[in-house]
Amino acid sequence: AQLLFFIISSCAFFTFILRISLSQQRPPLMEVKGNLELKTPLVKASSRLPLPGSRLKRGPDQMEDALEPAKKRTRGLGAVTKVNITRPRGPPLRTALKARRKKAAPPMVAGKKPGKRPAWDLKGQLYDLNEELKRYREKNQALDRDNQQLQEQLKEAQQQAKTLGTECSTLEEELTRVRTQAEQGQQELGHLRAHVSEIEEQLSTKEELLQELQKEQLELQEERRALATRLEEQERRQQALEAALSSSQAEVVCLRQETASQATLLAERGDQLHGLEMERRRLHNQLQELKGNIRVFCRVRPVLAGEPVPSSGFLLFPPGPAGPSDPPTCLSLSRSDDRRATLSGAPAPPTRHDFSFDRVFPPGSRQDEVFEEISMLVQSALDGYPVCIFAYGQTGSGKTFTMEGGPGEDPQLEGLIPRALRHLFSVAQEMNGQGWTYSFVASYVEIYNETVRDLLATGTRKGQGGECEIRRAGPGSEELTVTNARYVPVSCEKEVEALLHLARQNRAVARTAQNERSSRSHSVFQLQISGEHAARGLQCGAPLNLVDLAGSERLDPGLALGPGERDRLRETQAINSSLSTLGLVIMALSNKESHVPYRNSKLTYLLQNSLGGSAKMLMFVNISPLEENVSESLNSLRFASKVNQCVIGTARANKK
Ligand code: ADP
Ligand code: MG
Repeated sequence: AQLLFFIISSCAFFTFILRISLSQQRPPLMEVKGNLELKTPLVKASSRLPLPGSRLKRGPDQMEDALEPAKKRTRGLGAVTKVNITRPRGPPLRTALKARRKKAAPPMVAGKKPGKRPAWDLKGQLYDLNEELKRYREKNQALDRDNQQLQEQLKEAQQQAKTLGTECSTLEEELTRVRTQAEQGQQELGHLRAHVSEIEEQLSTKEELLQELQKEQLELQEERRALATRLEEQERRQQALEAALSSSQAEVVCLRQETASQATLLAERGDQLHGLEMERRRLHNQLQELKGNIRVFCRVRPVLAGEPVPSSGFLLFPPGPAGPSDPPTCLSLSRSDDRRATLSGAPAPPTRHDFSFDRVFPPGSRQDEVFEEISMLVQSALDGYPVCIFAYGQTGSGKTFTMEGGPGEDPQLEGLIPRALRHLFSVAQEMNGQGWTYSFVASYVEIYNETVRDLLATGTRKGQGGECEIRRAGPGSEELTVTNARYVPVSCEKEVEALLHLARQNRAVARTAQNERSSRSHSVFQLQISGEHAARGLQCGAPLNLVDLAGSERLDPGLALGPGERDRLRETQAINSSLSTLGLVIMALSNKESHVPYRNSKLTYLLQNSLGGSAKMLMFVNISPLEENVSESLNSLRFASKVNQCVIGTARANKK
């Protein structure tokens, strides 16, 4: 487009120059020259146009040749230029020139230059000049025609230039428009490129996302497969479970029917069992009554280390009627009385004293053997019969050992109280299966010199023990209670052990205050047993009393009484009184006397509900194996025998 513009502007300029040269009065020859020269600047730069009046140095052929490269160059201008320039409206300039040369040439060739006329031949010379003038005129005419032709051509060219100018402006406009469009296109392209890069970015992001999603999809597929496998497995299991369930349901129906029938059976059996239990209680009680509601056991403690070994035959334990395998029930004590002498002066043979009890325990008897004999009484207490177990004997005869146990933690040496309670707890547990619920409340008091003291006192009362009183639990109530004393609910051995330990501590504190007080007082361990059969609305309750009596020894009557011994005498009298009251109460009960002297001592008063009636009583008479204690031993045995003989209604009594 630029080249086209250049050509067009060159053409315009050339036209302008041509006009100027034409307007000037130039000789015809110069005009031709100018016309000929025009061809080159038409294609060359305007600066190379010959100045007006300058001489043309090249000949007509050279001009022809000079035109050729211009023609060649114009050919390279492209379609539009070539068409506009090469399209001749009239005869082309080159053809016209050639024709003119041909026309002009013959006169030159034919009218060969006439040889030089002699100077005198003026006529000839005039003729020649005229000829030449004529030729020139012709030539001039031809040139005029050429000129005219050229002017026409120029006009045409101007016209063409004008058209081309218009076309050029149109093209320029077009170009501007195209440029604008191109710019817009560029902008748009830029936008599009940005958009494309954006899209490419998005695409890469999307591709990454896609990859991720594909990965995820793979994982999900994997998971889905695993889940499908699990589901299948679950379904199989479910089917198996359903099958099992249906069989179980059928089984449940069968079992329900069976349960219903068994429940009926169970109820029947329960009734039967209850009937049997009641029967057992009745029979057990009957058996205990046959054995005697009051029983006496004699226990002889072993000779302790450092004690003199008694002479052989001092204490004998003859076997029972059924031979040596029969548990002994008899005891023989031989007493040699120095005061009695034979007539010859020889010492009198020892007097033999025979005693018979419900059971006799020789020195080697173990604690568990002793307990075995009384475990039946513990069952009676659970069945609702009051039970009293006493330990009677002189100080040091083994009462505390029998009731509480030996020193130390040796379980073999455990006494009746811990054993009885353990047995109670285990039997209560068993009875629980039959619908019986038991509860136990313990108390432990000491009766010294007719005053009651709590052995379970704690804190500031520990060891001191404010005075306690025995009172009725309520107006019109048969039940007795000791005021200020602790009543502790117990449910296991450990709790009982703790209570016994506390009682021992309390006694130890008291011992520092008053020497050997424990042996001069009665210790009463009471356990209130309450049983309930909620389903049948049955209740039973009874106290179990385990009494470690005060030493039964009497004061030596020959002993001179000092001021300190007066208290001792009073104390001993109190003990003896309460012990004899116990004997009297038992006798009154066995003789079914209308008046039973319970009130004569605190001990009998406290125990009145556990003596007599359906109550079971067991008395251990503890005997020292030592010969030096023979007198006290005889006293104890006599007292026990009296109690034993009191028993009325027993098998033995009936036999008698
Ligand atoms: P008590 O309470 O009648 O005054 P103890 O129970 O304190 O008598 O017994 C006096 C001593 O004899 C204690 O050291 C006790 O350990 C011991 N003792 C009593 N009975 C037996 C027995 N059966 N076996 C072994 N030692 C016993
Ligand atoms: Mg004692």
